[in-house]
Amino acid sequence: RARINPHGGPLYFSPDMEQHTHWRLEVLRQLRRDFHDGRLAVWFQPQVSLADDGVIGLEALARWPDTSGFTQPPGVFIPLAEESGLIVDIGAWVLDQSCAAFSRLAASGHAPRRFAVNVSMPQMRRPDFPERVVRTLAARGVPPSALELEITESQLLDEPQVVLRNLHALKQEGIQITIDDFGTGYSSLGYLRQLPIDCIKIDRSFVVEIDRGRGDLFAETIITLAHKLGAETVAEGVETAAQVRCLRNLGCDTVQGFLYGRPMPVDELAGWIEQRTRH
Ligand code: C2E
Ligand code: MG
Ligand code: MG
Ligand code: MG
Repeated sequence: RARINPHGGPLYFSPDMEQHTHWRLEVLRQLRRDFHDGRLAVWFQPQVSLADDGVIGLEALARWPDTSGFTQPPGVFIPLAEESGLIVDIGAWVLDQSCAAFSRLAASGHAPRRFAVNVSMPQMRRPDFPERVVRTLAARGVPPSALELEITESQLLDEPQVVLRNLHALKQEGIQITIDDFGTGYSSLGYLRQLPIDCIKIDRSFVVEIDRGRGDLFAETIITLAHKLGAETVAEGVETAAQVRCLRNLGCDTVQGFLYGRPMPVDELAGWIEQRTRH
């Protein structure tokens, strides 16, 4: 069956695709409902500095606890939320929850230096995005310098003008900027040079192959580039001691991965940090 294609030309739907579209709409409907019913959660994964083995940061990661057959991992529900625009509200909520969690950790003496929150393009397209971030930080009593906003390399390329304006405005407020999943997009050096980047995250796909053959080539190149840009590096998805040895040799600053700790609720994390510092 042919349908109208907004980009011109016919668009053919197979029954499979129709079912898939139906499934996605159903997941989105359930996500919207669970979000509005307060059923989403924010978990935190520790980041460890290779300089002194201390917990230097956290990454906030959205979770959709199992409440219905439609519950999905972030890799599925975040893209759906992005396409539908729901990410604007979810993202604002994740930021607020993360600030609240960070100030709780600070009050009990367990806060690391910084915490990272992922942001998506639909959030940045709001003209008042930087202002909103600043207001959320102030309302929770968190200093802007403790917050790192992560934007994926592929989203950087979506709308360079919007990205540039936002990142510079956020930077002006003292917020730190991190490029996520680096190496999976196609940003040019000329563009990267215009961005106020504090940190680059080496995508897990490079970490996985780092101790095999010349698998360290890309990680090495990314670390060199980051340092030349005056930015730090965080390796994501670190699962083995051999990977840590390679990363340390290459001069990577910070590591994040299951080898150290999985994402966990804030209360569990406070215990985890306390136990780590006691040893
Ligand atoms: P990301 O920002 O690159 O986050 C890192 C992902 O790697 C997380 O997946 C984390 O659980 C996973 N991870 C960490 N260490 C390891 C490891 O050692 N091995 C393996 N196999 N995986 C590891 P998660 O939580 O499923 O999130 C997937 C993606 O969803 C995130 O990738 C991020 O792009 C997006 N996301 C999650 N929460 C949010 C959010 O609040 N807002 C936005 N915009 N995106 C989010
Ligand atoms: Mg991230
Ligand atoms: Mg990442
Ligand atoms: Mg990733």
